[in-house]
Amino acid sequence: MGLFPQRFIDDLKQQADIVVVIQDYVSLKKTGANYKGLCPFHGEKTPSFQVNRDKGFFHCFGCGVGGDVLKFLELHEKIGFADAVKLLAQRFGVALPEMEQSDEQHANAAERETLLKVHEAAAAWFRQQLASNAGARVRRQIENRGVSDATSAALGLGYAPTSRDALKSTLLQQGFSQAMLLRAGLIVQRDDGTVVDRFRSRLIIPICRDTGSVIAFGGRAVDPDQQPKYLNSPETPIYSKGRTLYGLNLSKNAIRQRKFAILVEGYFDFAQVYQAGFQGVVASCGTALTPQQVQQLRRFTSKVVLSFDPDAAGQGAAAKSCEMLVAEGFAVNVAVLPAGDDPDTFIRKRGSQGYAERLEHSTPYLEYLLDRAAASHNLNSDEGRVKFLGDMLPVAGRIPDAAMRDRFADRLAFKARVTDDVVRAEIRKAVVQKQGTFTRREVPSFGQVTKAEKGLIWLLVHQPADSLEALAALDDVDFEGLAGGRILDLAQKLNEDKGFSPAALLERLTDVDVQLVTAIASEAEAHVRDAHDCGRILKRLRWERERAAIQREIDRLQEVGALEGEKLQELLVRKYDVIQRIEALI
Ligand SMILES: [Zn+2]
Repeated sequence: MGLFPQRFIDDLKQQADIVVVIQDYVSLKKTGANYKGLCPFHGEKTPSFQVNRDKGFFHCFGCGVGGDVLKFLELHEKIGFADAVKLLAQRFGVALPEMEQSDEQHANAAERETLLKVHEAAAAWFRQQLASNAGARVRRQIENRGVSDATSAALGLGYAPTSRDALKSTLLQQGFSQAMLLRAGLIVQRDDGTVVDRFRSRLIIPICRDTGSVIAFGGRAVDPDQQPKYLNSPETPIYSKGRTLYGLNLSKNAIRQRKFAILVEGYFDFAQVYQAGFQGVVASCGTALTPQQVQQLRRFTSKVVLSFDPDAAGQGAAAKSCEMLVAEGFAVNVAVLPAGDDPDTFIRKRGSQGYAERLEHSTPYLEYLLDRAAASHNLNSDEGRVKFLGDMLPVAGRIPDAAMRDRFADRLAFKARVTDDVVRAEIRKAVVQKQGTFTRREVPSFGQVTKAEKGLIWLLVHQPADSLEALAALDDVDFEGLAGGRILDLAQKLNEDKGFSPAALLERLTDVDVQLVTAIASEAEAHVRDAHDCGRILKRLRWERERAAIQREIDRLQEVGALEGEKLQELLVRKYDVIQRIEALI
C-alpha cells in the first residue's frame, strides 16, 4: 500500500473535528477551554480524559495515553495508521487521494488479498468437513477433550479428511490457481512432482489476525501414531509465526476490559481457558514470545498472567516468555498449577472455579522466582547463599524499571541475609553487563523532564512562535541527554524546514514522546515566565554536563598520577572556559 501524501493528512486533520470524532465513542463535557470525559482506555469513575479541540489532541491523566485524532482512532479501533486515515476520511466525507502505487506494490497488495480469500475459502471447507459424516470421529475427539460445540464454532475448528487432494480440487474449482495454493502453503509439491494437500487427516485450527481474518492453519494429528503431532502452515506473505498471537482476535476486547491477559501455551489450553469464561487469553503456541508478539500485546495491556506447571517453570518457553515480558516492562504474574497439569487438563478436572482461584492467588513472577531459588539452595550455608545470589543477580539485572529493581534487591538481600548495599552494588554490575541484551524501552517519567523543557513543550503547542524562537538559538548538543530532547530537537528541525505545526510534531514523534507532549500540553498553563529563559537554562545544563565530563577526566588523570602534563593543562583551560560560559548564562 502506498502512503498518503502528508498534505492530504494535514488537510484531513484540519477538517476533522477531534471533539466530534471522540464523541462518537465517549461522552464529553465542556469545562473551560477543554472537553472532559471518562477515559475509554482505562476504567475510571471520575473523568481524567481531556480533549483540546483547538490544538487537536487528547490526553488522559489517568493512564497517560494521548495523541491526535488519528492516534485516537488507531487505539480505539485497534487499527493501523493507514486504516485510521481511511476511517477519518470516510467519517467526514473526504475523498481519498489516488494512491500512487508501483506495479510491484500493486501486485503485492493483490496477492495478499487473494491469499486472504483462499484462506477464508479453505477455512469454510474445513468447517464443512468437520460437520459432515466424515468428520464424526474428530467431532467425538473434540467432545472428549471437553470442548463444547459453541467453543468449537468460536474457534472455527475444522477437519481435513484423509483424501490426498480434496481441498486442492475444491479450491481449483472455486477459481484459485495452483500457484496460489502453493504460495498459501495449503498444498505441497512432492519430490516426484505430484501435488497434494498439506493437511490430511487432521483437526484444523484456523490462525487469525487480530482483525479476525484467517491467515494460517494449525493441524493436529487425529491418529495416535500420526507424525508430526502438530503441523502448521508455512510462513507466507500474510503469515509470520513470530508476529502472531493465537486467539487475540477473540480475546482483545476482554483483555482491554479486564486489564490483563492470560498467556497459555497450546490451542487446547486456549480453548479450555476461553470456554471457562476467562476470555482474555492468548496462546504462544509452544515457543517463547518474540519481541513483536510482546509489542502486539502491549496495544491491549501491560499485565500478563501465566499458568505454570511447576516442573516446567524456570526453564523452557514459558520462563523465556516471562523474562521477555519483565524486560519489556510488563507486570507478570504466575498462577502455579499442580505438577503435571496444564490449563487444559487442570480446568477439565477442577472446573472454572478452581482455575479462578489459581488466578486469584497468582504471584508476581519475580517473587515466584525468588521463592523457588531460595527453596532450591541451602541458605544456611555461605556456599548456598552465594549460589542463590548467583542465580538471581542476572534476573535482577534484566529488570528495566529502577524502582522495581530496588524492591527486588531488598527482597533478595533479605532472603540471602546480606546487607542490601552489597546486593545493590552487584545488581548495578549485572545491569551494566546485561545492557543491550534486551530491547530496553526508554520511557521518561514525568519527573525527569526539567521545568525548562516542560515550559518549551507547553509553549510549542499553545504559543509556538516564542518557543520556536528560543529553540532556534540552541544547538543539537544542547538537546542531548534530555528526557524531552527528541521532542525539542524535532520541533526545531521542522521549524527550520518551515513545516512546524503542533499537529505535524505529534504525528512524527514516537508514542512515548507523544504522550509526554499531550500530558504537558494538557496542563492549564506553562508555569514558566518566558521561552528564552527556558532556552538559556537548557544551554546552561548542557555546559554543566560538559563541565562534569571534564571534571571526571581530570579526576581520572589525577588518580593515575598524571598531575602535570599537557593533557591536564588543556583540560583545566577547557574547564575554565566552560565555567565562564555557564556564568554568562546565569
Ligand atoms: Zn485513561
